[in-house]
Amino acid sequence: MKLDFLTLYIVILLNSLTVAIIWAAIAYRYRTFTTARIWLLGCILTTLGGGILALQGNEGSYAPAVIGNGVVIFGFCLFWMGIRHFYGLKGGLAASVAITMASLFALLPLFDSTQGRNLVYAAGQSAPLVLAIWYLLREKRRELGAMIAAFAMIVGVAGHAIESGLNIGLMLGRVDGAFYSEIEAYALLCVIFSGVVWNFGFAVMTIDRLREELSELAHKDDLTGVPNRRQFLVELEAEDRRARRSTLPFSLLLIDIDRFKQINDTKGHAFGDRILRRFVEIVHDSIESPDTLFRLGGDEFAILLPEVSARQAEEVAGKLVAAVRSRSGAGAKSVRFTISVGVAEWSPDQSLVGGELMAEVDGALYKAKAKGRDGYAIAGLDNLPDSAAATGKIRLVS
Ligand code: GH3
Ligand code: MG
Repeated sequence: MKLDFLTLYIVILLNSLTVAIIWAAIAYRYRTFTTARIWLLGCILTTLGGGILALQGNEGSYAPAVIGNGVVIFGFCLFWMGIRHFYGLKGGLAASVAITMASLFALLPLFDSTQGRNLVYAAGQSAPLVLAIWYLLREKRRELGAMIAAFAMIVGVAGHAIESGLNIGLMLGRVDGAFYSEIEAYALLCVIFSGVVWNFGFAVMTIDRLREELSELAHKDDLTGVPNRRQFLVELEAEDRRARRSTLPFSLLLIDIDRFKQINDTKGHAFGDRILRRFVEIVHDSIESPDTLFRLGGDEFAILLPEVSARQAEEVAGKLVAAVRSRSGAGAKSVRFTISVGVAEWSPDQSLVGGELMAEVDGALYKAKAKGRDGYAIAGLDNLPDSAAATGKIRLVS
């Protein structure tokens, strides 16, 4: 079978157009996912480049070949820039312009040498592909979409390598013209195949990213950024399973801001929101594993303390109460506030399903509130001396 180049250039054009339509739809639907716009631009440029290349027909006339390939090379650079952007890295434009310009300048002295020009095209298109493969594979997290895209790009680079080998062979007189043009067409097919498949790889990366964002939204409290009640229940269950396996207990702190309604009423709801965020900041600065802080709703938070007994949890509670009391007033846009904390230790005879642990810790919080707030109480232990409760000064364990 003999493949003619004009047909292949039209195939490049149509394939690029197909994926451009897909990226246009994704970019339109998910406006905040800006990577889609970069990949869309890459597709538009390769479509345009494919169109210009098709103009040169099978003869390979100079101007459309140079311009078409230049546009395709820059389009490929945009695919690499999109990957950078996907992984949160800015920039890449200067390098992309440099790769494209270097390729075009390298073509100037090669006006008469089709083989020389082909070598420059292959190198120019391979450079952004190699960069893209590197950026896809260096991520520690091996995502399926990224692996598909990297595999496809490796096929594309291999296609270019075969083509370059053939061109060098032809220049050295080791390969005859008929063999060259037949194999070169198949090498070009590799590149076309690769372009379609890496775009599908990118699409899988996009789907996974959007799904992750959605799941984060479902498990995160959007005001404070900490995990929400739903995530708390998932992790509480996991902790219960872990504790049953290891028989090491865990503890739970239930925290409620004191007289928060008053703050809202006197300073306004937006100020109240700021206090909630300030509280999260203080917790993050004060405890060793702040990732176990959850917002259960309103001004109520919980902290899971794995492999920690009630006595150790009491220490954490004391530190937190003191930290909030002393640090909450700092800053012009804050106000001094206090918290009350209930402490409960998990025990194997409690049933999570029955909500016994939650009921216990809730009871302890109620006790801390009843004893005057700005302090903590431990479920099952009356740890708050009445004299301290009367003055609102609760014993702190440092
Ligand atoms: P106590 O010391 O007994 O806890 O008194 P309190 O005034 O803090 O009472 P409670 O904990 O029941 O009040 C919680 C208040 O939190 C009620 C509600 O108006 C307010 N609230 C709930 N969600 C939000 C929120 O997202 N932002 C703000 N600013 N306020 C909220
Ligand atoms: Mg409250």
